[in-house]
Amino acid sequence: MPAIVWGVPLALSAFGLSPKIMFAVIVPLGLAWVLIGGLGSLMIACPRCGKSLFMRGFISVPWPAKRCSRCGADLTDCLR
Ligand SMILES: [Zn+2]
Repeated sequence: MPAIVWGVPLALSAFGLSPKIMFAVIVPLGLAWVLIGGLGSLMIACPRCGKSLFMRGFISVPWPAKRCSRCGADLTDCLR
């Protein structure tokens, strides 16, 4: 994924495009990368009960739990 984010602007600069056009390309690509990464991390769930590792009760946190808050399964194995 980083190769796509940085490779496209570099390829465009090789064609002599202005920095403004490159910026218009880099920002959407960066946002798409963050969104895909964020959605991917939300897809990580407890292998035993399917609970999202990023949910603590009613709040969402940006780091995964070491132990499932619902069933108590050790989650450090599935994060490696
Ligand atoms: Zn669980």
